[in-house]
Amino acid sequence: MGLPCTMSAMTDKVLIAGGGIGGLACAVSLARAGVAVQVFERAPELTEVGAGVQLGPNVTRILQAWGLMPDVQAVAALPAFLHARNANSGEVLASLSLNGNTTQDSAPYVTLHRADLQVLLHRAAQGLGVSVQCQAQVQAFQALKDGVLAQVNLAGGDVNEPADALVVADGVWSALRQQLLQDGAARLTGHLAYRTLVAQSVLPAQLRSQDVTVWMGPRVHVVQYPVRGGEWLNVVCLTEGQLEGVSLHDLQSWNLHHTAAQTRADLTQALQGACPGLHDLVQACGDWRLWPLCDRPPMQGAHEHAQGRVALVGDAAHPMRPYLAQGAGMALEDAAELGHQWAAQTGQGVAARLQAFAQARWQRNARVQARAIRNGQIFHLRGPMQWARDASLRTMGPRLMDVPWLYGHRLPV
Ligand SMILES: Cc1cc2nc3c(=O)[nH]c(=O)nc-3n(C[C@H](O)[C@H](O)[C@H](O)COP(=O)(O)OP(=O)(O)OC[C@H]3O[C@@H](n4cnc5c(N)ncnc54)[C@H](O)[C@@H]3O)c2cc1C
Repeated sequence: MGLPCTMSAMTDKVLIAGGGIGGLACAVSLARAGVAVQVFERAPELTEVGAGVQLGPNVTRILQAWGLMPDVQAVAALPAFLHARNANSGEVLASLSLNGNTTQDSAPYVTLHRADLQVLLHRAAQGLGVSVQCQAQVQAFQALKDGVLAQVNLAGGDVNEPADALVVADGVWSALRQQLLQDGAARLTGHLAYRTLVAQSVLPAQLRSQDVTVWMGPRVHVVQYPVRGGEWLNVVCLTEGQLEGVSLHDLQSWNLHHTAAQTRADLTQALQGACPGLHDLVQACGDWRLWPLCDRPPMQGAHEHAQGRVALVGDAAHPMRPYLAQGAGMALEDAAELGHQWAAQTGQGVAARLQAFAQARWQRNARVQARAIRNGQIFHLRGPMQWARDASLRTMGPRLMDVPWLYGHRLPV
């Protein structure tokens, strides 16, 4: 894989806590900027759970600049449209063209399996000389006069690893964020995601789809899109409700224990007014995984992104609701900005580079977090407000669905 570095001297050393999409993307970006990078992942191996992920042009533009689009296109699907449908009537209210722009500098809108994205980022990082160590949990950090020291718990015992900076990419339940900010755990949103993957080949022809569809119903919506070259369909049903007796440990799982019968009953209840087409789709899917959604309020300032020689990225910094499909996207944008600032501010100290990164990122991340919350409210409208939403979509559809400030964003990668 041809991934040119912008600098060759491997002088600075950065540790990354977390080998998810955010941590690996930072590893690629920093290694491209000439940094020696070491990733510590607490899991025994890199296995991205979950299911699908959508990446808009704001994100594929970065992957293009990193030379990774051939790898992405080998595993992704390129949906032609995003359809907004009323879940109860089945009416297609509006459709937005996703991949109609074929100008020379256009970037595609892709949908892919999260594991495929993680694998290709891992491969790219390794190709750039990044060391990725599993079964390695970063437990704490300590500021040094000229650096930072990470305390890492390895299978063979604890080590203290010195570096120039630490990037914290340990996800929504980030323990390292607590050491830096002490602002408490992420909050329960009161929304639940039931998600599954189904082979399109086992679905009746009328249920197969190569587009992104959002079915909007009262207090519920369903999102479907193709992954793995279009051979599989990713289906997520998002409902409102709390679960009784759920511990913090349960919440940290991406697959909360729930029996198939419980799930079936929940989905039937949530979709009781849904049209036959949506019922048929949900009935045709099995093996649903339940995931209570947690987030944080939109970022308040640059101090939530970086302090001293420690930077927070991805869900550790700005966990968000998935209603704009941009959580991983913002982690990738964080990574691109971090690598850019590291290379661009070479005359500055490490803390100043991380500050420049934080200043460049926090407002955009806050805006995306806020817009994701609003989207969820719009998707779940009831009564007259739902009627008004549908009427607006019928008349102004693509203009309402497009988000130019989001998708048109260009980072200096
Ligand atoms: C239903 C749903 C749908 C979504 N759809 C989309 C979408 O379409 N598009 C999109 O862009 N985003 C989407 N997202 C959001 C996206 O999944 C997340 O924002 C993204 O995965 C966050 O990546 P991350 O690397 O920051 O965190 P994580 O993926 O959580 O990775 C954190 C990693 O750190 C490791 N770790 C934790 N603690 C430590 C430690 N102390 N030391 C070492 N390692 C540690 C963990 O094991 C894990 O591997 C969706 C989210 C949900 C819930």
